[in-house]
Amino acid sequence: MHKYIIMGVQGCGKGTQARLLKESLDLVHISVGDIFRWHIQSHTKLGARIKRIMAEGQLVPDDLVEEVVKQRMEQHDWNYGFILDGFPRNSRQAAFFLESYDIDAVLLIEVPDEVVRERILNRRLCQKCGMDYNLIFHRPAVSNTCDVCGSALTARADDTPEAVNARVQDFHDKTQPILELFRRKELVVVVDGTQPAAEVQQNLRHQLEQKAWRKATTGTSTGTK
Ligand code: AMP
Repeated sequence: MHKYIIMGVQGCGKGTQARLLKESLDLVHISVGDIFRWHIQSHTKLGARIKRIMAEGQLVPDDLVEEVVKQRMEQHDWNYGFILDGFPRNSRQAAFFLESYDIDAVLLIEVPDEVVRERILNRRLCQKCGMDYNLIFHRPAVSNTCDVCGSALTARADDTPEAVNARVQDFHDKTQPILELFRRKELVVVVDGTQPAAEVQQNLRHQLEQKAWRKATTGTSTGTK
């Protein structure tokens, strides 16, 4: 069983790395942002409450987030484990999570702020199949058209300069401090997210294997940041 949390400033490539890891280890990818976007697209009551908050790049109130995470975790639909993406984002959420669930590792993807700002503002998403693109390093073959299903590409509503700044600031103020908590538990694995996606994934897998090996041979994961 592999139970992971993936963390990093918005635009660091969390979603891509989570999907690659999900495919190779047969994990369930739980993206809290995707669940919220589904609520907005499906015009649910929750969607109506969070639409503006999300478009401004603000964090959704903790009680709503915790409810969504609790309901999703209760489905327990994984055989080989899960990778949780976009949660926890502050100390209250971390405390809530650790009270009820245990994890094997926190995967931290490090990318400088100026790089993520540029990446996010060039991010495009296929509304139909969810495939993501980047106008700098992963352009669609035909402008604004999904290579996979041919649908139109759009920018996320919260990928504006103002919302991006708010999310980057929130990451530093609220999310980064909880990494200390996970570091003390020797759970954090760090990778350089400025490399091409396949290399980042290889590095991640390598470090996770080393961590598992250390744990199996010494009963401790010491040595990983
Ligand atoms: P993401 O797809 O992870 O970038 O999340 C998109 C947006 O969903 C964020 O900017 C927040 O508005 C909201 N969101 C996602 N996860 C959380 C969370 N753990 N706590 C609060 N808001 C969240």
